[in-house]
Amino acid sequence: EPRCSLPLPVLGRDVTVPLVTGGEVAYAALDYAASAPALQRVWDDVAAYAPYYGSVHRGAGYLSQLSTDLFENSRATVAEFLDCRDGDQVVFTRSTTDSLNLLAAVLPAECQVFVFETEHHASLLPWHDAQVTYLDAPRSHDEAIRTVERALADRNPSPGSRLRSSRGGPHAPALVCVTGASNVTGELWPVRELAAAAHAHGARIVLDAAQLAPHHAVSVRESDVDWVAFSGHKLYAPFGAGVLAGRADWLQVAEPYLAGGGASRTVARRADGALQVEWHTTAARHEAGSPNVIGVYAIAAACKALTEAGFDSLVAREQHLIDTVRAGLAEVPEVRVLSLFGDDAPRVGVISFVVEGWNSSHFAAALSAEYGIGVRDGLFCAHPLVRILLGSDPQDAGECGAPEAGPGEPSLNAIRVSFGAGTPDEHVERFVAAVK
Ligand code: PMP
Repeated sequence: EPRCSLPLPVLGRDVTVPLVTGGEVAYAALDYAASAPALQRVWDDVAAYAPYYGSVHRGAGYLSQLSTDLFENSRATVAEFLDCRDGDQVVFTRSTTDSLNLLAAVLPAECQVFVFETEHHASLLPWHDAQVTYLDAPRSHDEAIRTVERALADRNPSPGSRLRSSRGGPHAPALVCVTGASNVTGELWPVRELAAAAHAHGARIVLDAAQLAPHHAVSVRESDVDWVAFSGHKLYAPFGAGVLAGRADWLQVAEPYLAGGGASRTVARRADGALQVEWHTTAARHEAGSPNVIGVYAIAAACKALTEAGFDSLVAREQHLIDTVRAGLAEVPEVRVLSLFGDDAPRVGVISFVVEGWNSSHFAAALSAEYGIGVRDGLFCAHPLVRILLGSDPQDAGECGAPEAGPGEPSLNAIRVSFGAGTPDEHVERFVAAVK
């Protein structure tokens, strides 16, 4: 059985929960895809730093300088963790959602955006002010690549633009947005190939790595994506901080995402009474206000801990857990695991399923109340994808929470089990036994 050197996270201590059947049991946190428990190492690092903090970029005192160093060193740690290219910028945000909204806010004029309908709402929705093309759900990696190629080749020519696609013809700037690992099926997407397809057609690509980065090493350089976004709270750090990293050019010239102190280099009143503002061209341009230094520092601590543990051993250990869960679920005839790319697709520890004859919300509630297992039920903020996988009516107005199926009706929502670093065998074994 593969071992992993990372100390167990689980909030730094075991949490015991009461069961409706009587007694108590150690909580099995199997909802890492929503938020992963913070690593003990991250808590320790933050606790060691917290008593000393001072204002970042704003104070002459020793502790302010120390905070500023920790903050900027965290930026360098994240750049290293993501294997960024020289000249890439790491912007600290609140979350993946915030990062993708930031990118949407800095799109050049006339930019066309291409996004699969299968994306998480955080990658599906921020582009509403741009010209968006929604791409049909592909059923294989090849189909995903062909879909992007076709969509980019067919895009509207823009007479004013100097960009040319490989098929010739001038085109407006374009951006493809794609997830690295699905928050519903856990399946990996062919990121490198999609980046190559985007670039061959003069487009750029942003990787939603919210579910990928906690499970696999992400290399901006090797995958050749233009930007990558992820959230601290899914990467074993606490809530409240996220990252957008990648090409500086669009970021440097756009209006600041947030206007305020820290983003501006100089502000002066002109003779005509108006304000003259010179904005920073560094990441600070989009980070106005006092930053979330503890959140950022915690992300850097998580990056270091994961790098030290080594993704090879983390992946091997997680694959063992994935195999256990999938083999266990396969023994239950009423269970249907949701998949876009089929059984052999490479995946992370995120598995969604429905159980024939069961309302998914009731099933998830029973796992919690009777077994102390925390999973998620619903449409996982990926409504179009879950509806496709369930074969339900795309017009069904299901909510992010738990739409109810009537007795004997097919599920309108699903159950998701997800895990990662530090998940003990006992948790997934208890889960499989409970489902059975
Ligand atoms: N993308 C994916 C693939 C996700 O799973 C999530 C979170 N469920 C997000 C984006 C959004 O992350 P956050 O809520 O941290 O902004």
